[in-house]
Amino acid sequence: MSELRIANYERRIITSLTLALWLLVVASICDGPFQAAAEGIAVVESRASHSFAQQVTFTLHATSDAEITQVYLFFRATGDEQAEAVNVDIEPAREIRANYMRDLRSSPLPPFATVTFWWQIEDAAGNSLITGHQHFEYTDNRFRWGQLSANGFTVHWIEGHGDPIFGQAALDIAQASVGEINTELRAPVPESIDIYIYDAQHNLNAAMMLTGREWASGQAHPELGGVVVAIPYEEGYTSRMRRYIPHEVTHLLVYQAVTPAGYRYVPEWLDEGLATANEQLPTPEYAMVLEEARTQGRLLPLEDLCVPFSPDSRTAFLAYAQSGSVVQFIRERYGAGGIRTLLAAYANGASCTGGVQEALNVSLSGLETVWRASLEPQAPWRVLAEQVGVWVALWLLSLLVAVLMIGGLRRR
Ligand SMILES: [Zn+2]
Repeated sequence: MSELRIANYERRIITSLTLALWLLVVASICDGPFQAAAEGIAVVESRASHSFAQQVTFTLHATSDAEITQVYLFFRATGDEQAEAVNVDIEPAREIRANYMRDLRSSPLPPFATVTFWWQIEDAAGNSLITGHQHFEYTDNRFRWGQLSANGFTVHWIEGHGDPIFGQAALDIAQASVGEINTELRAPVPESIDIYIYDAQHNLNAAMMLTGREWASGQAHPELGGVVVAIPYEEGYTSRMRRYIPHEVTHLLVYQAVTPAGYRYVPEWLDEGLATANEQLPTPEYAMVLEEARTQGRLLPLEDLCVPFSPDSRTAFLAYAQSGSVVQFIRERYGAGGIRTLLAAYANGASCTGGVQEALNVSLSGLETVWRASLEPQAPWRVLAEQVGVWVALWLLSLLVAVLMIGGLRRR
């Protein structure tokens, strides 16, 4: 009985709701106060398509009861602080098709960025509509990409230059390295991490050149939440993966640790040093050039490594080797906490020298001095002393005390 009453009650509510809705519709048809809502602007279609490093075209098809008079396009790539606004040319009409083509050869977009776009449409009746945000991935669509995803990671490789086993290896290395690197950095991990693997360095370089960017080797795109590397699909690819992927993932996490404003304050020696030191397979040539530079007195001043490295490849190679070594030294002396305090100082806008002073309580040149000293081979007697250490010292001390005591007894 009571159930029936509730049912009746609900039916009454539904009936009155339907009535209210119907009245609303009638009111709006009759030019009532709801005119703006009903006669408002409607979007039929909105989309974007691109051909990599050539152009991107944004297309809008919209209608309105009054003439559409203005169309503005807004777009922003991941990492851009501001959206670009374009007043798109249209013939005023009740139905419009607007196109905006952006030449990417003269004004490039960052490769592999997510591009967000939306429109603002105005009509002669004074209506204005701002559409919801839409996104597209600005991928290198000159190639077809295979892909494999797990737990927020997606590995992309050029089809025919890798297979699911190749992709899986990259995926495993990426996932493991985020865990390992983050035991030190404790950075927030992005929701999704995309790893693009080109088949050859020259293809990657060409892609970057096309988009107005130049890179020495693998390239992190920390601000884009992605990684771009070149790993040929050939025997031994996993050793390249173990070097390049953790390196680039480190840049990503360093960015996250100081994001967003702090990244530009992080000195190059710290960012590249962490990335180099985190490579799962050490590059033996780093140790060799470091030792060679030390013996020849050609080590680069640490202060020179605060800024982007020299374009000269030999100097750059030494800069990477030194940076990795300095970071290892800081780790050994100050621990992971020291690294985090350093990053925190830069996140707050510290200068290259100021950050070291603040976080490690030593000047940059002081740090350089002790680091250089740590590279010096130790004199044989010092090595011996360190090895036999305390016990020899105690023995010598007891001997001295004995001699003094004997001397004292004799004088008496
Ligand atoms: Zn790097």
